[in-house]
Amino acid sequence: MLLPAFVDLHLHIDKTFVVDEVGVVEGDLFAAIEIMAKHRDGWTADHIRPRMERAVREAYAGGCRALRTHLDWMRKDAPPSLAVFEALRDAWRGKLVMQCVSLTPLDFFDDAFDSEDLALEVATANNTCDKARGEAALLGAFVYRNERIYDKLQRVFDLASKNGLDIDFHVDEGLDADARGLRAIADLTIKNKMQGRVTCGHACSLAMQPDDDALQTLKLCAEALIHLVSLPSTNLYLQGAWHRTPVERGITRLREAREASVSVSLATDNVADGFYPYGSYEPLKAWALGVQVGHLSQPLDWLSSITSAPSKAMGLPWDGLIREGCSVQDLLLVNAGDARDLMNTPLIQRLSDVQNISLKSD
Ligand SMILES: [Zn+2]
Repeated sequence: MLLPAFVDLHLHIDKTFVVDEVGVVEGDLFAAIEIMAKHRDGWTADHIRPRMERAVREAYAGGCRALRTHLDWMRKDAPPSLAVFEALRDAWRGKLVMQCVSLTPLDFFDDAFDSEDLALEVATANNTCDKARGEAALLGAFVYRNERIYDKLQRVFDLASKNGLDIDFHVDEGLDADARGLRAIADLTIKNKMQGRVTCGHACSLAMQPDDDALQTLKLCAEALIHLVSLPSTNLYLQGAWHRTPVERGITRLREAREASVSVSLATDNVADGFYPYGSYEPLKAWALGVQVGHLSQPLDWLSSITSAPSKAMGLPWDGLIREGCSVQDLLLVNAGDARDLMNTPLIQRLSDVQNISLKSD
C-alpha cells in the first residue's frame, strides 16, 4: 500500500522511557501524576535529551512526517525540555515537522500565578518556529473538574489571543460524568472566535454522560471546529478500576464525534513512562487499537485519523491527501494489502528510500 506518512498529534517525549526509574503505576491517572511529579523535579537537559532523541528517531522510523508533543511546564519559566526540543526540531527539519505545547495545570491560570509570563515564554518559543513548514508552539492546560473553570479557561483564551497562540488542552481525562470541560471549551472557543485553533485530547467523560447531553457537546465542538484526539492506549491503561477487572474503558465517543462532523485523530500519548509502561512510537498501532476498541468497522476509513485529520489540525503545508505533486519523502510504501495486514506491524519504508521502483500515474 502507498500511504501518506503519518502525523502523531499527541505525544509526551519529555516524559518517555523513564518507566524503569519511576516504576509501573498500578492505579489511575492521578496516581500516575503523583509518581511522575516526584521524578520530574530531578530532570535536567542531560537526562531528558537522550530520551527525547530516541523518541523522535523511533517516530520517524514508525513512519511519521510530523508530531506534536506536550512538554510539562510547571512554572512561568520554560522547562529544560524546551531547549532540548528546539534543538531536536532544528536538527530534524526537512524530515519531520515538530510542534510543542506547554502542559500546565489549569489552576495555574489563576490571577494569583504568573500565567502572563508563561504565555510570553510560549510566544517566544512560537517565534523561533518555521511557520511555513508547519512548526508551532501552542498554549496548553490540563483541565479536570476545576473550580471556577470558565474563569480559568477564559484566561487561557485571553492569553492565547493576546500572544497569537493556538491551544491544545488535556480535557476530561477521567470517568466522572460531571467532568464537563469539553463543553466549556467549546462554548469559549465560539465566544472568543477561536474556531479551528483549539485541539482537545482525551474527553473520556463524554462516554459516561447521557447520549443527548454528549451529542449536544459534540454539536458545539463541531460548531467550534474543535479537533478531538483520542488516546486509546493510555486511556485503556489508566481509566477503569484497578481493584478488579475494569469495565468502563474511557475511550471517547469516536463514532458519534465523526457523525457530528467533529474532526478526529487517534494518537500515541505516553510511551514507557509513569502513565503508561508500554507502547511505541508507531501511529499505526494507535490506529489499530482505536479501530478495535471503538468498533470502527471500516478501518481504512479511519486512516485519516493518523494522516489527513492531524495534518489539518497541525496546519501542515500538505494536508496528507495523495495527489500529484506530493513530496516522495512524505510517502510510505507499506508491506500490507489490506487493513488486517496494516494492523500486524508491517514493514514501512519511505518511498524515497526504495530503489528500483517505478510509479505509474494510475
Ligand atoms: Zn497526553
